[in-house]
Amino acid sequence: MDVELVTVGTELLLGFTVDTNSAEIGRALAAAGVRVVRRTAVGDDVTAIRTGVSDALARTGAVITTGGLGPTADDITKSAVAALFGVRLVFDAAVWTALVERFARFGRVPTDNNRGQAEVPEGAGVLPNRWGTAPGLWLEGAPGLGIMLPGVPVEMRNLLQQSVIPRLTAHQSGTVIRSVTVRTTGIAESTLAERMGDLETRIAPLTLAYLPGVGSVDLRLTAWGFAPADADAALAAAAALAAERAGDHAYGRGEADLAASVLEELRRRGLRIAVAESCTGGLLGGRLTAVPGSSSQFLGGVIAYANETKQHLLGVPESLLGEAGAVSEAVAVRMAVGAARALQAEVGVSITGVAGPDGGSAAKPVGTVWIGLVLPGLEEAVLRTLVGTRDEVRGRAAQQALYELWRRLRSLPE
Ligand code: ATP
Repeated sequence: MDVELVTVGTELLLGFTVDTNSAEIGRALAAAGVRVVRRTAVGDDVTAIRTGVSDALARTGAVITTGGLGPTADDITKSAVAALFGVRLVFDAAVWTALVERFARFGRVPTDNNRGQAEVPEGAGVLPNRWGTAPGLWLEGAPGLGIMLPGVPVEMRNLLQQSVIPRLTAHQSGTVIRSVTVRTTGIAESTLAERMGDLETRIAPLTLAYLPGVGSVDLRLTAWGFAPADADAALAAAAALAAERAGDHAYGRGEADLAASVLEELRRRGLRIAVAESCTGGLLGGRLTAVPGSSSQFLGGVIAYANETKQHLLGVPESLLGEAGAVSEAVAVRMAVGAARALQAEVGVSITGVAGPDGGSAAKPVGTVWIGLVLPGLEEAVLRTLVGTRDEVRGRAAQQALYELWRRLRSLPE
């Protein structure tokens, strides 16, 4: 079954409210095997709502709206949709009673203004809303199926899960839409696509999507309209193939976090880590400490932004800073060695680079980042040339440092 969404609210168009309802409905319906095929946002305007809903019904035959069901003057979805279905709004005594009881719990009495909230399109099913005042509405008629939900996310979510999805799936064949994500890093989207080769044809009818982020590309594999067990088996096989082709760029599935993977590799080998950060100013330490339980492997770090700090706390020689410059291979290695020594860790990682927007030169343009790595039996630094804004360069630098470390740890004996 396919549906369209129409979200109502001028604040959505102005950008003051971010439309999280559509994303939530899309995910929840996909999991239940119902496909959202189009989303439209319209302002608090009867004509816009009516046109949006009418066009959606003409295309797809089923529409879910959110927003515009409350007592205020701009809440007009109900009358716009009722007019479209050619039915009147009628007073519903059960809705009114529920409203009176709800008001009583807060020591209030509803006014005439609230009476409108107890009006429902004639013939509509009422989806009781225990989390707010406006019930959801289920209207079937010549134009198709119109489902109206309140805009407040918690109310929308509860009505969707408890009333809408059970009703929609009652007529379904028991199929689902399921996805698995293979997470990759340290490889550009186009290079990754070359590595995937004929994967898309091999895994069909499963689909593959590339989702690039800061310093990572997720491979999203989706099974559409499969029985649940078949979907899981097909996705597991496809994910294994995608991970094999991505090689050591694939570091996990689903919500896997590279920092957590690094900590796990350290834990397996009984190693502890210290960091020295210049241009990332603590982002690497932040990524590691965001993982619960990281204290057993992460000892701490030095934010060595100024050259004096690199000298005094990490023991980088002044002469080296003068000759090679703070953003250099030699300084990156000395920073990593200095951090490991200062904190008595077996592993040290450093980041020193030009995050921009200023400070670049012909020899060291913005985005030039050296990552120092000190592990048992190894001392080296790798150069990365990263693109993006200051925030993106910093985020990518921390991600690259985690990736370079993760790869090296995996080649050490456990
Ligand atoms: P109520 O009955 O509580 O008035 P309503 O159906 O009238 O609900 P709106 O007045 O349109 O809903 O929106 C209420 C609030 O819900 C908005 O101020 C906004 O914070 C939030 N909201 C509305 N639409 C969305 C949406 N699409 N995504 C996320 N939040 C939303």
